[in-house]
Amino acid sequence: MSKKGLIFNIQRFSLHDGPGIRTTIFFKGCPSSCLWCQNPEGLSSSKELFQSNAKCIGCHTCLENCPEGAISFDGPEPVNDRSICKLCMSCADNCPTGALEAIGKEMTIKEITNEVLKDRIIFEESGGGITLSGGEPLQQLDFVIDLLKAMKELNINTAVETSGYVSIEALKKVSTWTDLFLYDLKLLNPEKCKEYTGISSKPVIDNFKYLAQNGSQLVVRMPLIPGINDHHDHLRLMADTLKENGINELELIPYHNIGAHKYRGLNMDYQLQELEPPSKNQMAAVREAFLSEGISTTSEV
Ligand code: SF4
Ligand code: SF4
Repeated sequence: MSKKGLIFNIQRFSLHDGPGIRTTIFFKGCPSSCLWCQNPEGLSSSKELFQSNAKCIGCHTCLENCPEGAISFDGPEPVNDRSICKLCMSCADNCPTGALEAIGKEMTIKEITNEVLKDRIIFEESGGGITLSGGEPLQQLDFVIDLLKAMKELNINTAVETSGYVSIEALKKVSTWTDLFLYDLKLLNPEKCKEYTGISSKPVIDNFKYLAQNGSQLVVRMPLIPGINDHHDHLRLMADTLKENGINELELIPYHNIGAHKYRGLNMDYQLQELEPPSKNQMAAVREAFLSEGISTTSEV
């Protein structure tokens, strides 16, 4: 049994991660690097230090508690020399305001189960359950399988949100314990997919076909990124791929940038700073384009 998973958030009362009211567990680590990612704290498979300067009161407690001498001040807020920082999290543990925060917590199955069971009655009344998300949860495959098994022993509904960029063997193992896959199809063209997400679309499409043709429950989701995957040829290719595999519904997730501030907190670059979310008219046009190809869409914000 895999003893601990690295988790960056457990979100109770989720309404958009599968049926009913759900608890969503976010796993750290992702093979993709989608330019539009709004959960950048899920990309790295290691713990990270997050810095919110707006919360900093300039008390220098972090400076005093850093055993590596990685923190200095040349203004009101700390500067972390990441080439020295050992991610021990002593600064975050001692920061009185939460301006420094450790992202990623190692958790056992029992610890996660205890969180999940707080909402068991809500799951039963709403038809909900748990959803594993990320990052890419299947990066932590052994732990995920153990967690899904534990949930099934408790008769709790399980959903897995995946990029599909995993081995077919991993997917087969996980599908035994998964009631529903929330499957992301972003860009089907292999070169474009590589350019904007860092991965090839081929295994993603192959795995989608496997799940669709082998009776797995699937909700296919497509983030709609203006100027990147909303052109007509791509919408038609997406519709054809869905129809060829017996799927006639698609969940559209309009691009947003409400997580852009997280890039600053993680000292990362956000390349789509200037990109605006799709307008109502753009969304309507895309929905109409899919409908004309025989695909109905829902839209989650
Ligand atoms: S301990 Fe926290 S609040 Fe104090 S200076 Fe450091 S980051 Fe700012
Ligand atoms: S995580 Fe540890 S090493 Fe890094 S800055 Fe904080 S206290 Fe120093």
